[in-house]
Amino acid sequence: MNGITIALSKGRIFEETLPLLAAAGIVPTENPEQSRKLIIGTNRPDVRVVIVRASDTPTYVQYGAADLGIAGKDVLIEHGGAGLYQPLDLKIAKCRMSVAVPVGFDYAAAVRSGARLRVATKYINTAREHFAAKGVHVDLIKLYGSMELAPLVGLADAIVDLVSSGNTLKANNLVAVEDIMPISSRLIVNQAALKMKRELLQPVIDAIAGAVK
Ligand code: ATP
Ligand code: MG
Repeated sequence: MNGITIALSKGRIFEETLPLLAAAGIVPTENPEQSRKLIIGTNRPDVRVVIVRASDTPTYVQYGAADLGIAGKDVLIEHGGAGLYQPLDLKIAKCRMSVAVPVGFDYAAAVRSGARLRVATKYINTAREHFAAKGVHVDLIKLYGSMELAPLVGLADAIVDLVSSGNTLKANNLVAVEDIMPISSRLIVNQAALKMKRELLQPVIDAIAGAVK
């Protein structure tokens, strides 16, 4: 495609990206929350937005199906980042990657004991690296959502998940016991597209950079 295709996920990333796109003079013509369309036009005839699952954004950009995308650091670590240029931390969709356990579970003692810890998470790579660096032996259990449920029904001792307010943990009688890393969303760019279409892409990247607080 000759113009620019931007991959975005619905929800907080779409909402928090709108002001950054506006700073680059790009305004989507529809809201994906209301529309079922997966390809959305913008005020610029040469720019379109494709709506993808958050964890799929790096894949669309890696293969050049989208030139630009916005993805959480959590998603980028799991993807690995192959074929992606990551020029900007956009400082949006901020939260923390944390270890959480049921209230009353003695995490420190469990770690000291050297027993294998069962950890449920969507973030297998991040979790594996974190516990390996600490020398903690873990059995990782891959889940795709609702991680908070796992310790409550005996599937796992702990979870690795994103935490912002902590309200979801609290509502499920869980508590964060360890911070793994701060998370925010990044602009990602297809490396080949940046070379071939630099005169089109660079002004958009620069305008977004100027709008980041
Ligand atoms: P899905 O809901 O489709 O399974 P998802 O949970 O990854 O996918 P979102 O909840 O929209 O989708 O999250 C998108 C991105 O926003 C995440 O990859 C992460 O970087 C960030 N994020 C997730 N949860 C929070 C949160 N509670 N506060 C701030 N940012 C968050
Ligand atoms: Mg979610």
